[in-house]
Amino acid sequence: MPVDIHAPFPERVQQALADPHLHTAIHRAMERMAVARTRALAATDAATMRAQMRRMKAHVLRHLPQYLETLERNLEDNGAVVHWARDAQEARTLIREIALQNGVQTAVKSKSMVTEEIHLNEALEEVGIRVVETDLGEYIIQLAGEPPSHIVAPVIHRRLEDISQIFQEKLGAGPTYDPGEMTSIARAQLRQDFFQADMGISGVNFAIAETGTVCIVTNEGNGRMVTSLPPIYVAVMGIEKIVPTVEDAFLQLQALCRSATGQAFSVYFSMTSGPRRPEHPDGPEQFHVVLLDNGRTQMLERGYGEALMCVRCGACLNVCPVYAQIGGHAYGSTYSGPIGAVITPAMASDLRETRELPHASSLCGACREACPVQIDLPRLLLDLRAELAHRGLEPRPEAWGIRAFMETMRSRARYEQAGKLARVATRLLARLSGGTLRTLPPPLNGWTQYRDFPPFASKSFREWWQEREALRGRESD
Ligand code: SF4
Repeated sequence: MPVDIHAPFPERVQQALADPHLHTAIHRAMERMAVARTRALAATDAATMRAQMRRMKAHVLRHLPQYLETLERNLEDNGAVVHWARDAQEARTLIREIALQNGVQTAVKSKSMVTEEIHLNEALEEVGIRVVETDLGEYIIQLAGEPPSHIVAPVIHRRLEDISQIFQEKLGAGPTYDPGEMTSIARAQLRQDFFQADMGISGVNFAIAETGTVCIVTNEGNGRMVTSLPPIYVAVMGIEKIVPTVEDAFLQLQALCRSATGQAFSVYFSMTSGPRRPEHPDGPEQFHVVLLDNGRTQMLERGYGEALMCVRCGACLNVCPVYAQIGGHAYGSTYSGPIGAVITPAMASDLRETRELPHASSLCGACREACPVQIDLPRLLLDLRAELAHRGLEPRPEAWGIRAFMETMRSRARYEQAGKLARVATRLLARLSGGTLRTLPPPLNGWTQYRDFPPFASKSFREWWQEREALRGRESD
């Protein structure tokens, strides 16, 4: 039973926790990706690579306006049409107009989180344009009518058995668990779509400012078809996705591939610098690049700019104990996992809608250790929690709990009374349940669902110390 992404956050989490198939699918994939990543990083000087990446990304953010101007100028010199979109609505309108002006009927897409972010498919389908996802994972979830649940592996939440079922229901395929056979079925279908398409749409892994080149990294070859076969190619990129030089592009490519899929290099790497020229055998006649802000500038202003260094490798998701339990759909946002819990509220104009996300973390720090750009995600999560508290938007029970804790800690008498009460209550509960405290009463029972809660000691340290000192005094008399 898929998670209902429109349900409130606590319900989504409960649905995800109750789905054993989801856990099987996620654990299988996470284990595979973690092993591949560790092996790929061990084969290189990972520490130096991470330091270089961080330096380069921080430099880009410090000089973002300048690099954006350079990129725009060089793209235009190469024959591209550059568009600026302040928000998702502007981006959708722009791309829809390009499609309508050119009589587009079918658009093929390469996997792209930024087009998920602006809900582009729905906007094009509203005006009668057929949109076909051509990345295999995206194709499967499009058939299932679901959004992606992982930045890199959109169908991570589905087992092979589920995918076979989807192919039988939606494509009339025979029952098979052979991934090769299922891929062939999808390929035969998609080939027709590629030949029919009048427009190709992709995101951008990074754009090289000094050459005016848009780069996409794929493993299936669909990205190359999307960018070169249809007569119109539209690339959508967040304004932060810039690298200054070709050398920086190859540094980022290496960090991305090793961290995302554990590969030394992706199977395909497509670079587009402009539309087709008379001497070219193929390529798009029109090449449009949409530079999207959609909350990124205000992220910089509000102090969350560090998260804009993200290269969307997904490594932080793959090591996150919270993501492992609930998967991507429970987050209810385009971007899930630790990076999603930061950038979704940081990009949002209204913090209220995403206020639970910064709390969907144990702050264990595994994400920071895995990140190829060393983004301090736990600190950013704490900053967001502080902002929520400052605006009076933190979750109610937690706010009440912390306020009660503060009041208790402000007075020695209250602190000692609370200690006595906790000792009596926990020891009584433990005695009632046979010596060990297995379940706390609501609302604290969530803690004991997965963890121990030993009863408090029979005396406080202060009481024990006073008794000990008194005993010593008596003995020395
Ligand atoms: S925050 Fe770091 S680890 Fe997570 S997706 Fe971004 S670059 Fe990868």
